[in-house]
Amino acid sequence: MFKSGFVTILGKANVGKSTLLNAIIGEKIAAISQKPQTTRQKISGIYNDENCQIVFLDTPGVHDPKNKLGEYMIESVRRSLEDIDILLYMVDDEFVIPKDDKGLMIPFLGRIDDSVKIFVIVNKTDKIPIQRFEKIKSYFDQFDKVNRVIGISAIENRAVENLLNIIKDELDEGPKYYDDSIYTEMSERDIVSEIIREKILRYMQDEIPHGTSVSVITFSERDDKPIIDIDAEIICEKSSHKGMIIGKKGRKLKGIAKAARQDIEMALDSKVNLQIWVKVKPKWRDNAAELKRRGFDIKNI
Ligand code: GDP
Ligand code: MG
Repeated sequence: MFKSGFVTILGKANVGKSTLLNAIIGEKIAAISQKPQTTRQKISGIYNDENCQIVFLDTPGVHDPKNKLGEYMIESVRRSLEDIDILLYMVDDEFVIPKDDKGLMIPFLGRIDDSVKIFVIVNKTDKIPIQRFEKIKSYFDQFDKVNRVIGISAIENRAVENLLNIIKDELDEGPKYYDDSIYTEMSERDIVSEIIREKILRYMQDEIPHGTSVSVITFSERDDKPIIDIDAEIICEKSSHKGMIIGKKGRKLKGIAKAARQDIEMALDSKVNLQIWVKVKPKWRDNAAELKRRGFDIKNI
């Protein structure tokens, strides 16, 4: 019997959703960083084995929208809860057990169809004492809608296999939605921008927050050589930010570009010639046209 289904991973920023997805899919598909809201778009990774296909939807962190980009993200989370089989609601060591607001603990709980199985994933068990884990578990166990509470450490790949097996057990018989060779619905361009975005967040530490966006302007394979030429654009909100991204004598940007190129070459399995340009666009996150141009269009979710 072949099983398949759709699984959404929902949870606050930084709980480890992308890390889990990467641990399962084993490819660099979702940007990972120490900072919240790295993953802006719904990203799916696809897990395949001989008798099962699981399509994972990663979500942006759940938060209060502060600008149009934020609204896009919330809407994208809502949509990612439709037509799914399993919801993985992830919390981590920073989860605070609430005193009274039971029903509100899992965002969107009321909107989740009864046919959807809900697993609460307690991630980062590598730094949660067992007694605390038990307390979190018994908190979530009191919800009728919660099917199971499962502890994992995504970063140490602890109990991830177990989680996969539980998911497989719960899935129904179904078709293979995607060809085996596809591990993500993201285009190569999306993968390239995610990798560059991850490097910016890694290299800029706390200096540049979330006012940057990356888009790939050209992506072309050469006819005569196995090389892909890529031009990418980083936009930021202030010229002071542009200066910081470029760095003294362009060193910062060179570092970002080099690290990104290495990962892109691995992901695309090809040599890559990468050029990155930095531009200033004040308030781009509140500019509907600019958001649309960058693929953040609510109509497209
Ligand atoms: P997301 O925002 O939910 O997608 O979270 P990320 O996957 O980007 O992870 C946020 C941070 O938590 C990163 O610094 C990860 O390395 C870290 N992290 C993820 N999983 C674990 C884990 O199991 N244990 C520990 N200690 N850290 C983790
Ligand atoms: Mg993420």
